[in-house]
Amino acid sequence: MFLKTPGEVQLMDEANRIVHRVLDAVGEAIAPGVTSRQLDRLAEKVIRDAGGAPAFLNYRGFPATLCISVNDVIVHGIPKDVPLKEGDIVGIDCGVLYKGYYGDAARTFAVGRIDAEAQRLLEVTEEALRRAVAQVRPGGRLSDIGHAVQRYAESQGFSIVREFSGHGIGASLHEDPQIPNYGTPGKGPKLKPGMVLAIEPMINAGGAGVRMDADGWTARTEDGSLSAHFEYSVAVTPSGARVLGTDRI
Ligand code: MG
Ligand code: MG
Repeated sequence: MFLKTPGEVQLMDEANRIVHRVLDAVGEAIAPGVTSRQLDRLAEKVIRDAGGAPAFLNYRGFPATLCISVNDVIVHGIPKDVPLKEGDIVGIDCGVLYKGYYGDAARTFAVGRIDAEAQRLLEVTEEALRRAVAQVRPGGRLSDIGHAVQRYAESQGFSIVREFSGHGIGASLHEDPQIPNYGTPGKGPKLKPGMVLAIEPMINAGGAGVRMDADGWTARTEDGSLSAHFEYSVAVTPSGARVLGTDRI
């Protein structure tokens, strides 16, 4: 795992500022009748206008700028010409390459009015991410992060996806260490200033099982239940966590 200098962390903050600008713009554009492909085009324009490059486009052959994951899709959904419907939830995951460094963040949005259980899933998943970030400090242990996610999500009656994890990030989109969203606390490497971690809980309203579509990308809940995903890129600093690219928390 690579430690970043303060100058590199600053560049990663700038990359993540572009990511959050995309998430803000896409969040504004989401409405019943809008297609996920339209959202993808908007994202690519925002990224290129800011001088960045879409990090997911052509990554291992992925065909789009955003991963757009509707309802029972957990992550890695491919944008399509299918309109969003009132009551859907839609996960937007965005990666940007800027001046040699990556930014990566995700939010899940409501399309129009959603039912109370869907709303609760979004709130619990975002709160799980906040609780995970609260574990990030020098001298803490990597598994404290996943433990915080699991403990909170399961206390709310939801389940943790185990097939996908957070990751280190820097001059590569995915670096060591892997950051599972479950586990016992006090294990794994000690957190040190200069680490940058993409922390990304994926939480299912029903069971934890996952099945893959024939496209090889789209990961869905096995039982068809809803799934939500929030992600921040977080730097470990001498004084604690610094969420990159946003002042949302
Ligand atoms: Mg991501
Ligand atoms: Mg990520």
